[in-house]
Amino acid sequence: MPSPNASKPPVPAPPEEDFRDHIATAHADGRRRWLYPRQVRGKYFRARTWFSWLLLLIMFSGPFITINGNPLLMMNIPERKFVVLGQIFWPQDMIIFALAILLFFTGVVIFTAAYGRLWCGWACPQTVMMEMVFRKIEYFIEGDAPEQRTLAKAPWNAGKIFKRTIKHVVFLALSFVVGNVLLSYIIGWQSLSGIITDPPARHLTGLTIMILFSLLFYGIFARFREQACTFICPYGRFQSALLDENSIVVAYDYKRGEKRGPLRHGQKFGERKFAGFGDCVACNQCVAVCPTGIDIRNGTQMECVHCTACMDACDHVMTRTGAVPGLIRYASLNGIERGEGLKLTPRLMGYSVVLAVLAVILSVLLCNRSDVEATLLRAPGSLFQQMPDGRFSNLYTVQVINKTSRDLPVELRLESPAGTLTVMGAGTITVPSQKLAENSVLIELDHNTMKSGTTPVVIGVYSNNKKMQTLKTAFIGPRN
Ligand code: SF4
Ligand code: SF4
Repeated sequence: MPSPNASKPPVPAPPEEDFRDHIATAHADGRRRWLYPRQVRGKYFRARTWFSWLLLLIMFSGPFITINGNPLLMMNIPERKFVVLGQIFWPQDMIIFALAILLFFTGVVIFTAAYGRLWCGWACPQTVMMEMVFRKIEYFIEGDAPEQRTLAKAPWNAGKIFKRTIKHVVFLALSFVVGNVLLSYIIGWQSLSGIITDPPARHLTGLTIMILFSLLFYGIFARFREQACTFICPYGRFQSALLDENSIVVAYDYKRGEKRGPLRHGQKFGERKFAGFGDCVACNQCVAVCPTGIDIRNGTQMECVHCTACMDACDHVMTRTGAVPGLIRYASLNGIERGEGLKLTPRLMGYSVVLAVLAVILSVLLCNRSDVEATLLRAPGSLFQQMPDGRFSNLYTVQVINKTSRDLPVELRLESPAGTLTVMGAGTITVPSQKLAENSVLIELDHNTMKSGTTPVVIGVYSNNKKMQTLKTAFIGPRN
């Protein structure tokens, strides 16, 4: 006779293994699981709050801070002009820019290998805006996680419509502000205020981008939320390649915490230990506060943004139950297993050497960056002309960039072969501070200096009688 259990479906995997099959924000069938993280309090949250205020102050005041008349930071993609700490970088500085980006990413790699995703939890604009601004507004309007759950399940009565409308109007208004701040980092606040104050018809493109940015941020902070860190941000994806057993991460001390079990009323920790239990009282507070919905007791996971909320929640539980805080803490796997601190591993040393080399090259390039940079190009469609006096002429276009914060007079001198060089319309070019000037240049040569169809020409670029650059080009004309 078959066993009564034979036709029963297989026993499902225990819940703690479920995380391997789907991410925390999705149900087993793939639907989005909306998260209601509980409000968190604790020393890490307080420190993060203060740090966030500082970052928000810098972020919102950044476009208005100027150094030598230039913005602190501006990525003016339409005009191909990048300003970092008041210094303008042009497309001609591409090598410096590429090196700086390489240096930045190498720094990120080293930092992540040593300290995990400290950046994500403490300084990433997405986390700061989501957890310190939008989430707090949501708590203020809708209450803590249990109230939010109740409101979500409630029918659409007047109270729910009122709260939801207020929340989304505030979110939309804030997204508009955030979008405009981002836009002012791209085009500068002066251009942005022009878009706002001028008649709309004059800035249709700017207005469209402004609306798109606002809707984008509203979508991210009102709906997409932690999905941005899980699915969009490439940095989160890199972490599995960058972290190793020596990286400091937000970690659950499983040696101390296991075996988990609820703390019975009046039970002492000593008694629990005797019964084979660890310090984790299975209260799930660490999961309840997690903004990405994960259980850190399952180990380091892709979704963890190192926000420290679970550290605060668990420390609170440990303190209340009379245990030592730090069951969830900043630690490496080796730190938890063998009590080791941060180690300078060969990998870290290798990255550091690359970082140092890049930093030296970048410093040399920055120190030798000339004040003036000129480019000479043949005027489009022109070949050569014979002048009434028998000489031949070629027409060129010169572009001069002034990288200093003062206006510079720039003079071009023909150094070889003998001939004349005329800057059309002006003898010298005056390039305004941090600007680009463009002029036509006419070079005339005697026929007897033209030994071949293309004669090499050398031009000196001078400012205040100091040679700044040497330009080389070719003069086209009939061979003598
Ligand atoms: S908060 Fe601490 S004690 Fe509670 S379940 Fe998490 S790890 Fe265990
Ligand atoms: S596991 Fe902890 S540190 Fe990681 S995201 Fe969740 S609450 Fe933040």
